[in-house]
Amino acid sequence: MKLKTILLSVLFSLFIAFSAYAQRTIIHAGTLIDGKSDAPRNEVSIIIEGNMITSIENGYINSNSNDKIIDLKNKTVLPGLIDLHVHLESETNPQKYLEAFTFNEADFAMRSTAFAKRTLMAGFTTVRELGGSGVNISLRNAINQGFVDGPRVITVGKSLATTGGHADPTNGWKNELMGSPEPVDGVLNGVAEAREAVRQRYKNGADHIKITATGGVLSVAKSGDAPQFFEDELDAIVRTAREYGMHVAAHAHGAEGMKRAVEAGVLTIEHGTHMTEEIMDLMIENGTYYVPTISAGKWVAEKAKVEGYYPELVVPKALEIGPKIQNTFEKAYNHGVKIAFGTDAGVFPHGLNGAEFRYMTEVGMPVMEAIKSATITAATVLGMKDQIGTIEAGKYADIVATDKNPLDDVTTLESVSFVMKDGVVYKN
Ligand SMILES: [Zn+2]
Repeated sequence: MKLKTILLSVLFSLFIAFSAYAQRTIIHAGTLIDGKSDAPRNEVSIIIEGNMITSIENGYINSNSNDKIIDLKNKTVLPGLIDLHVHLESETNPQKYLEAFTFNEADFAMRSTAFAKRTLMAGFTTVRELGGSGVNISLRNAINQGFVDGPRVITVGKSLATTGGHADPTNGWKNELMGSPEPVDGVLNGVAEAREAVRQRYKNGADHIKITATGGVLSVAKSGDAPQFFEDELDAIVRTAREYGMHVAAHAHGAEGMKRAVEAGVLTIEHGTHMTEEIMDLMIENGTYYVPTISAGKWVAEKAKVEGYYPELVVPKALEIGPKIQNTFEKAYNHGVKIAFGTDAGVFPHGLNGAEFRYMTEVGMPVMEAIKSATITAATVLGMKDQIGTIEAGKYADIVATDKNPLDDVTTLESVSFVMKDGVVYKN
């Protein structure tokens, strides 16, 4: 009995001794923007054990020989960036409309792995995927299981639309191909199908729900503005989603559909092009976030001028809606609407997500606020503010760094030079 106790205590001491020498990673950060404070800190050490940040210390702490030191003394260190609006399965190109007929799901899946990697290398360690064929759910799982390098993916799987609505996957096809897509395909009409479509997403493994509350630019359909859901359908979607702990993101350009979506209780408005002051007030009252996607607006307005880049029906919508988004963002920000960072990457090439910071600050948002919109605010939207979004003890080690201080030069966020996700270094 006594011997057993002695043996146990020896083993316990060995375990403690081993733990003390277990490898830690220590980042020496010249400048730290932690995602929480309003001012940066200089010369700090970030201590990481496994995939977690365990402490932040003043000065460049000396370590025991077992520790791994990462020297970022000449860099500005920030929390991993979060983009709340990406489409990882595809990327803009003039042949894109043909892909619906020539690609198998596996083709989208294979390409998505490259787009995911590019996104991670651009400093985005978490993304909210707002809809594709649905293979993005497998992409999320493959990344989580370590088979593919990419950001943490929080996904809606497939967008929901009404018949002929923006995310109806058969818009513009000839009649015999068009068929009559159903809730399983992401198309719904009426309350019963609204519930079914949400429950189907849950069953397929989606994390949240995306709806196309109004027409959109890139669908082969005439209106980019028309409301596309009735109030009872929106109410059924939001209430059903809540039953499963899912939030609803609403694509919206036109005011009427946007207002209905905000009133129904969606969490985010995407694009928001024709947002009125009345809607801004409603959003403030309801706690709705605005995810601007200025980058997408600028890209489509530019490419619409290139002959043949988009189908004929798309061009006037792109020219009308695209250039307005930055202006809407400026008004909404000045009005006090909560802003959360999102770009619509995929509508423009993946990896260029960081340009959104430049577009946001061009019209008056301070850089520090733009950074928070892509860190702590975006983490809050995802319901993950206790895990990601700041550099603090107890959070996942999602950490990036830039060569210059973004508070002096915001464009440095377009070429992030260090990326760590979940304690693993992907770029240095
Ligand atoms: Zn989108």
